[in-house]
Amino acid sequence: MHIDGHCHCGAIAYEAEIDPDKVGICHCTDCQHLTGSAYRVTVSVPKADFRITAGAPKTYTKTGDNGRTRYQMFCGACGSPIYTTGIGEDAGEVGIRWGNITQRRALAPNHQIWCSSAANWFGERDALPGRERD
Ligand SMILES: [Zn+2]
Ligand SMILES: [Zn+2]
Repeated sequence: MHIDGHCHCGAIAYEAEIDPDKVGICHCTDCQHLTGSAYRVTVSVPKADFRITAGAPKTYTKTGDNGRTRYQMFCGACGSPIYTTGIGEDAGEVGIRWGNITQRRALAPNHQIWCSSAANWFGERDALPGRERD
């Protein structure tokens, strides 16, 4: 599936060929800190199938709880997370952040990781009163 996306301000843009079954939720504490939210949704894609088409993301390097070095790529102007990649065997894979993908409504997660640090209310969202807008 062909996708494209851009950060909130539009300085960074990209496109990719993705497998819609490679969409996952991460509940790790790094994702909570880096998003300011309860969890992160990411689409994994081989690096060869991902291409930046505008701008140059900034890099924040972090060693995860599993000991792996992660490069967190983000827009230096608006702060939007763009993608992640790593070193060694992780360098061949890119994790595209769901929220900036134009076609994101067609991409539903089918697995989740780091459930040990998930917000204790995760999964109860459907029981909350909801409104279509704010
Ligand atoms: Zn931006
Ligand atoms: Zn995570």
